Amino acid sequence: MLDGKWFTEIFAESGSAFSLQITDKLYEEQTPYQKIEIFDTTHFGKLMSIDGCVMLSSRDNFIYHEMMSHPALLSCATPEEVLIIGGGDCGTLKEVLKHKAVTHAVQVDIDEGVTRASENYFPELCTSNNDPRAELHFDDGIAWIKNAPAESIDVIIVDSTDPVGPAEGLFTLDFFSDCYRVLRQGGIVIQQSGSPLVCPNEIVDMHQVIRDAGFDSQQTYQFPQCVYPSGWWSATAGGKGIDLSNAVNKVPATLDFDTLFYSIAGHHGAMAIPPFLQALLEDSRKH
Ligand code: SAM
Repeated sequence: MLDGKWFTEIFAESGSAFSLQITDKLYEEQTPYQKIEIFDTTHFGKLMSIDGCVMLSSRDNFIYHEMMSHPALLSCATPEEVLIIGGGDCGTLKEVLKHKAVTHAVQVDIDEGVTRASENYFPELCTSNNDPRAELHFDDGIAWIKNAPAESIDVIIVDSTDPVGPAEGLFTLDFFSDCYRVLRQGGIVIQQSGSPLVCPNEIVDMHQVIRDAGFDSQQTYQFPQCVYPSGWWSATAGGKGIDLSNAVNKVPATLDFDTLFYSIAGHHGAMAIPPFLQALLEDSRKH
């Protein structure tokens, strides 16, 4: 919703809304998949929305992109082959390529329009697109994973829109079963899993689906993200032949690349699941 000089996203399910003051609409495109809009804001730099939902702002996207990448890559002993599903703004790809161990990073976003708009309006996120290790494809991630060879990937990052429209199938047992098949032993899949406060059941359901797909461990990482519903967000991972709660202890004491939000201490903190969510997760395991 564009109300005068404010962009507002209403979250009907939680009776709340988030607004940013805007100075200009810079871009609008209806692609075959979704409506992409880009605005200039007074305090948050540029803002991208898809179908009226906030995707990212210049000011705070580093938190999301770092937390979608570094906990999973650093928990994996050999993060050589990485697949990003979605992630068309290329911010996650940029973080992934900071890891020297990565030899090949494939990004599969269904909508080329998101990447082209990001190159124009968020060029700082696209600086690694020409890295020789990077490969960009514009395709449906669900079909891509179905056709991928077994045991060929070390880390899968699902950086998608919410579970509606083209992204719906990225949250299903079918999809996670395909991820399990495609991952090597010691491999990790991570997917954004919504707000622990306003949609904890999304997290509970994802743990269930990851478990049912055959993964040996599940781990949720929480982090602040003020532009998403409630300002508190999460990502949930599944480990194949790896205990994610223990993998954090093998993370090197210092990083050989720069971050703005991620730190080793923060990695431990992000894994501290609040008691109310822990209780919901334990309860769901009993059924
Ligand atoms: N951080 C964002 C959020 O949670 O709001 C996600 C940003 S990223 C721009 C989301 C991307 O997922 C979009 O570019 C969209 O085109 C892509 N996407 C949605 N469904 C997809 C699918 N089935 N396969 C590949 N990409 C998909």
